[in-house]
Amino acid sequence: MDCKEATKYVRLYLDRKLDPLTQEAFLDHVEHCSACYEELEMTYMLDNASDLLSAGDLSVPNISRALHEDMNERRGQVRVFYRFLTGEYCLYTLAFWAFLTALAFQLRIWFTNGLF
Ligand SMILES: [Zn+2]
Repeated sequence: MDCKEATKYVRLYLDRKLDPLTQEAFLDHVEHCSACYEELEMTYMLDNASDLLSAGDLSVPNISRALHEDMNERRGQVRVFYRFLTGEYCLYTLAFWAFLTALAFQLRIWFTNGLF
């Protein structure tokens, strides 16, 4: 993901509208690109200014910490998505081999009984 793309995704990221794979690519980019991270942090601050004000602390470290906690939470969500995807893949693989095994047994029964 390049800076142009990452900038485009800042709004979607904060609105939680990115799919897990795009979100992971976005997080990978902003964690290594200070310009895009600053863009994210600024937008995050503007979005959450009222919450942070009511909490009584609108300092930069507080905003940065809140954003990092949010990013860590999103990383966790991506990890859960990958675990789900892996589990789903294993399930489909097992189902495929179970189907082939059942088919092989059925063909054997048909051949043994002289249906073919
Ligand atoms: Zn960038």
